[in-house]
Amino acid sequence: MSCAVLSVGSNMGDRLQHLRSVAESLGARVVSRSSVYVTAPWGDTDQEDFYNTILIAECPTWDMWSWLEFAQRCERRAERVRERHWGPRTLDVDIVSCSDAGEQLTSSDPKLTLPHPRAHERAFVLVPWLEAEPAATLLGVPLSEHLDALPRGERAGVRRLDDQAEWFV
Ligand code: AMP
Repeated sequence: MSCAVLSVGSNMGDRLQHLRSVAESLGARVVSRSSVYVTAPWGDTDQEDFYNTILIAECPTWDMWSWLEFAQRCERRAERVRERHWGPRTLDVDIVSCSDAGEQLTSSDPKLTLPHPRAHERAFVLVPWLEAEPAATLLGVPLSEHLDALPRGERAGVRRLDDQAEWFV
């Protein structure tokens, strides 16, 4: 049995529907999920805020490459409704971490680096992940410690979406 922590983000189109499409494709494989969080984009401010969530899923037959193929399949499907060619992305699905038979997997392959090399410095990954899996560790360190190490304000910049009714259906 492999288990993947998926970070799912969208800042274009029907953002909630893009996140929901991933949860729906996973179906019964989802073992835990966070609320949806809203994060202001950095740099280019001519963009919608990001919606981010964490989905934790298990599958008896998939290996780490299967999770990447799944993530890329979801992204490709969402690109079909892309509104402008060079605009922000409709859907981004990253494999934050993956374990198999309870063992954390590591990979330095650029096609699939595990754990995700920037996860520990992204509040929009850590905040929802902590909600979905409070006891989780990343690189051997509890998620709350990674969050405490971030610059002031990072964590505050990730706020829970007010209305979760359409997410937890
Ligand atoms: P991005 O533009 O952030 O969606 O990056 C996509 C590229 O990152 C793809 O070519 C993936 O093969 C590669 N990649 C490397 N590690 C990971 C990971 N842990 N999760 C998702 N994509 C990854």
